[in-house]
Amino acid sequence: VAKSAVAIISELIASASSILVLGTEERIRNMLEELELKIYQIAKDNEIRLFVQPYFGIAEFKKGDSFEEVFEQASLAKIQSERNFEPVTYYDESLITGTKLSDTEDIMEGIKNKEFEVYYQPKFSLNTKQFISSEALVRWNSSKYGFLNPSQFIDKVEKAGLIHEIDMYVFNRVCEDINDANRRGRRLIPVSINFSMYEFYSPTFVDDILKCVDGHNVPHNLIEIEITETTSQSNPFLCISIMKQIKEKGFRILMDDFGTGYSNFSNLRKVPIDCLKIDKSFIDDIVEDKKTREIVRFLIELGKNNELEVIAEGVDKAEQVDILRRFKLDTIQGYYYSKPLPKKDYEDFLISNKFEKKGEDEEWF
Ligand code: C2E
Ligand code: CA
Ligand code: CA
Repeated sequence: VAKSAVAIISELIASASSILVLGTEERIRNMLEELELKIYQIAKDNEIRLFVQPYFGIAEFKKGDSFEEVFEQASLAKIQSERNFEPVTYYDESLITGTKLSDTEDIMEGIKNKEFEVYYQPKFSLNTKQFISSEALVRWNSSKYGFLNPSQFIDKVEKAGLIHEIDMYVFNRVCEDINDANRRGRRLIPVSINFSMYEFYSPTFVDDILKCVDGHNVPHNLIEIEITETTSQSNPFLCISIMKQIKEKGFRILMDDFGTGYSNFSNLRKVPIDCLKIDKSFIDDIVEDKKTREIVRFLIELGKNNELEVIAEGVDKAEQVDILRRFKLDTIQGYYYSKPLPKKDYEDFLISNKFEKKGEDEEWF
């Protein structure tokens, strides 16, 4: 009986393009909470995986608004929820102006003309005193807007529904670069690549990355996948199953921006990750603020007790390095060691930099 109740509810939600609820904000919030709780309870009681995520859009009646207008607005907000895998989105005017057709065209043009570039930021191990990996970060050298950092365009790319193209473009470039460096006998260290959480809803994600890596003959241990906490929480069941497949293929998984989401520490036991990246916003304050320092100390211990590598990102001062070293942090990424570098500079940096001491008999290539 309980199993058929599940079917009814999932079918109900999957097929209901809109359940319209009118009421005060409080009433609607309560209803959403109740619904989420019920779905969770059904999954828990039946020990089943339930891939059901209801999405809602909320719009507010203001003086003079017609019902049709507000209904339209709520529908638009709901579509945004579905796109971003957020349970609830409130309507605001930016949703209308958010994705201009011209943005989409510009981005497609940029992809076609290979205007996106990959930069690499090395990560320094405090244990081995070597650069042990790096992160691939995208830049847009746009013929129309000039040189852009991700903060200036990733949002737009996501809204235009083109983040998959960018992520795969970057991934492909990284595989090409590794293959090329390998053929030229250059020093190789693992590279981590950022994936938007949207990837985790693509049924071909694991196949896509395998095809790309194997197509370029890149050993799997040279590729690491960065995802954020929000990704793993937005649909934990699905996400964990994909993460397991990724790990089975020999790729490491890094949890990015750790500490900024609404962390559920018990999740750490369930989510199969290899590494925590402590968000820059904590690192920014560790010198001046004692509380932040204690939080960082705690996060490092938490990671280590769970046998995870712990990386601090956004480290740009010697004082920060000193504190992190005292806290027995594993790895540092930040301007203190190096900014993200274009491929050629990155390769040169790995051959010669002021932080690593190369032993007489040590050979990298
Ligand atoms: P993130 O993954 O948290 O990347 C780290 C960001 O911190 C990078 O900014 C890096 O340049 C910056 N950073 C590192 N060390 C320091 C430091 O010491 N001081 C300061 N002030 N900043 C530092 P960037 O390259 O601008 O990237 C911003 C965000 O864009 C990334 O944040 C990531 O979320 C996103 N992103 C970048 N490339 C990609 C990509 O290929 N795909 C996707 N989906 N997102 C990407
Ligand atoms: Ca990252
Ligand atoms: Ca980060």
